[in-house]
Amino acid sequence: MAPSAIETVPVYSDRDGQVLEQISDNVDAVNVLKANMKKEKALHEASEFDAEKNKTQFRQYEDAKESVKEFYREQHEKQTVAYNLKARNDFKFKTRAEMSIWEAMEKFNTLIDESDPDTDLSQIEHLIQTAEAMRRDGRPRWMQLTGLIHDLGKLLNFYGSEGQWDVVGDTFVVGCAFDLEANVCSESFKGNPDWGHEIYSTKHGIYTPGCGMDNVMISWGHDEYLYLVVKDQSTLPDEALAMIRYHSFYPWHKEGGYMDFMNEKDHAMLAAVRSFNPYDLYSKSDEVLSVEELKVSLSPLGFIL
Ligand code: FE
Ligand code: FE
Repeated sequence: MAPSAIETVPVYSDRDGQVLEQISDNVDAVNVLKANMKKEKALHEASEFDAEKNKTQFRQYEDAKESVKEFYREQHEKQTVAYNLKARNDFKFKTRAEMSIWEAMEKFNTLIDESDPDTDLSQIEHLIQTAEAMRRDGRPRWMQLTGLIHDLGKLLNFYGSEGQWDVVGDTFVVGCAFDLEANVCSESFKGNPDWGHEIYSTKHGIYTPGCGMDNVMISWGHDEYLYLVVKDQSTLPDEALAMIRYHSFYPWHKEGGYMDFMNEKDHAMLAAVRSFNPYDLYSKSDEVLSVEELKVSLSPLGFIL
């Protein structure tokens, strides 16, 4: 939904950008390690050599998990149905800002760069690497564009987020029982006010099995925010919208939770998200490309964020 007016919004302190990037990177690291552990578990069954590797991965995962535990404690305690409804309402009615895609990318990059000039890989480089890996693999142009913009919702950091907990991290469904198997650090859900709620704590909560993922409320963060922006302001196909909306929804696309809510369309969406995921997770170690060289072709594109 378009805003009624354009305004200049205040920039948070530089430290926020650094903390946001650090948390986001740590969350990614946990997901990479988790994925590697699974791959190598299969190998472990076939040979002893991989058993040794698997052990190393597991230790790294535990360390990384420890570093994001505190983040997830806060996220799991504060992402309630009430907060979700409030965030969606704010999105509809608050005045936001209009900018081109490139301006949005630079805005986020400036925050990170100013906070830490020694930072290893900026957000803008992550977006470009994701898109470039897709281009090299011959993925369709709409998917390359999706890769390029998929994390721009992190600009929530400027536009009304209450902390890191409502911008980054794996997402999950609110309004039904927390899936303790599918979510990381799930013990901390016990501190959420919705835990033990008469309806929200039941398996399907406020939803009906098969209702479709379009009809469930995903925890608030950069995925959902950008999805709402792009849904109304682009002609990207449903698969692209799904890649944006669900890319942090690891409990679903990686762990197989919340499957009861899927309808027929969601099976195709799940396949799309799964095909997107490796480009997001594994392109970070690729060669860093020249931002300036790529800038020219992007200037005409724009959104109201
Ligand atoms: Fe993301
Ligand atoms: Fe990403």
